[in-house]
Amino acid sequence: MSASMDAEEHLDVLIVGAGFAGLCMLYKARALRLSARVIEAAPSVGGTWYYNRYPGARVDIQSLEYSYAFSEELQQQWHWTERYASQPELLRYANHVADRLALRGDIQLNTRLVAATWDQDSRLWHATAHTGERWSSRFLVMAAGLLSSPNTPHLEGLESFAGRTLHTARWPEESVDFSGKSVGVVGTGSSGVQVIPLIARQARQLTVFQRTPAYVVPAHNGPLDPAWEARIKADYAGFRSRSRQTFTGFFSELPPPTASALAVSNEERLARFEEYWQIGGFALLFAYYDILLDIRANELAAEFVRTRSAPRYSTPRPRSCCHRPTVSAASACASIAPAITKRSTCRTSHWWM
Ligand SMILES: Cc1cc2nc3c(=O)[nH]c(=O)nc-3n(C[C@H](O)[C@H](O)[C@H](O)COP(=O)(O)OP(=O)(O)OC[C@H]3O[C@@H](n4cnc5c(N)ncnc54)[C@H](O)[C@@H]3O)c2cc1C
Repeated sequence: MSASMDAEEHLDVLIVGAGFAGLCMLYKARALRLSARVIEAAPSVGGTWYYNRYPGARVDIQSLEYSYAFSEELQQQWHWTERYASQPELLRYANHVADRLALRGDIQLNTRLVAATWDQDSRLWHATAHTGERWSSRFLVMAAGLLSSPNTPHLEGLESFAGRTLHTARWPEESVDFSGKSVGVVGTGSSGVQVIPLIARQARQLTVFQRTPAYVVPAHNGPLDPAWEARIKADYAGFRSRSRQTFTGFFSELPPPTASALAVSNEERLARFEEYWQIGGFALLFAYYDILLDIRANELAAEFVRTRSAPRYSTPRPRSCCHRPTVSAASACASIAPAITKRSTCRTSHWWM
């Protein structure tokens, strides 16, 4: 039952957002026997994984880690197909969770919170949706996401641009055909790095506009190894618990780094960086304990990443047959922040086709 326009419905908890956080919150509120409702602006659950439907969208934390830990049954039953899950699979997972835990009865879609005020006398929140519906609640949980508001750059002339403009965070449900098109991509953060190779496969010409380069590490993505999955599922609770003890919250199977990158020979350091590069993802962080703590250690790691990435920026082809972004090694490596401090990015597909 939804709140009527004039009467205020009373709840213990009103939750805003039906992404991963909102779904979890609803489950937990119910477990505490609190009356709860989720209101969600989108027409679907899933949050990030509903909106970011662009080609190549996926996690860069391993699927077995990027998933709910609160239900043993859920984590045992769900099977991820890839080491790093793609957006369609993550959206299926969110929908599966909503169904499996029978959450939908307390989720109201297409409903945007537009106002909320705290009343000190009654010690209640009063919330209003764009539909005019109103709720009062003891708790108001903003599970509204850290990335759910798209950032559209203020580019002069954008409003009058005659071509089609798309935003990765509001990608259309139908597939977009870039065949024969000249395409510009603005930005080389995680989403840019993921979408660029896939657009490059289709587009006649692709130009990438890059303000600030980011370090890109290989994910070494692929089908989920059934032996690894079985091993984790044999003690998923232990795996989660060990993850909580790491300094990142993931990669608990790697030994905690104890050595300094500054205390070993060049040869030893390069061999270790290479070993961790081959593991993929953000494993490089685990090579030495001071990569995030000491700028000198970080620079050694950064130099390694630049060296391993440099071939990708070389030998530009003529733009008429360009299937690659028009960046050079120099522009990509200049004024770059310390490695893996500013959000680094993981690639499943190669940048240049
Ligand atoms: C491409 C991409 C890759 C990512 N990869 C990773 C990763 O590997 N690891 C990781 O940890 N994180 C990753 N993230 C971050 C990701 O956003 C979080 O992991 C997680 O999905 C956030 O969940 P959430 O429920 O907090 O927020 P969201 O998924 O953003 O959900 C928030 C929901 O709140 C709704 N909402 C907002 N305002 C209102 C309002 N006023 N009224 C009603 N509803 C509202 C939105 O419509 C949205 O559905 C990635 C993000 C992107 C975009």
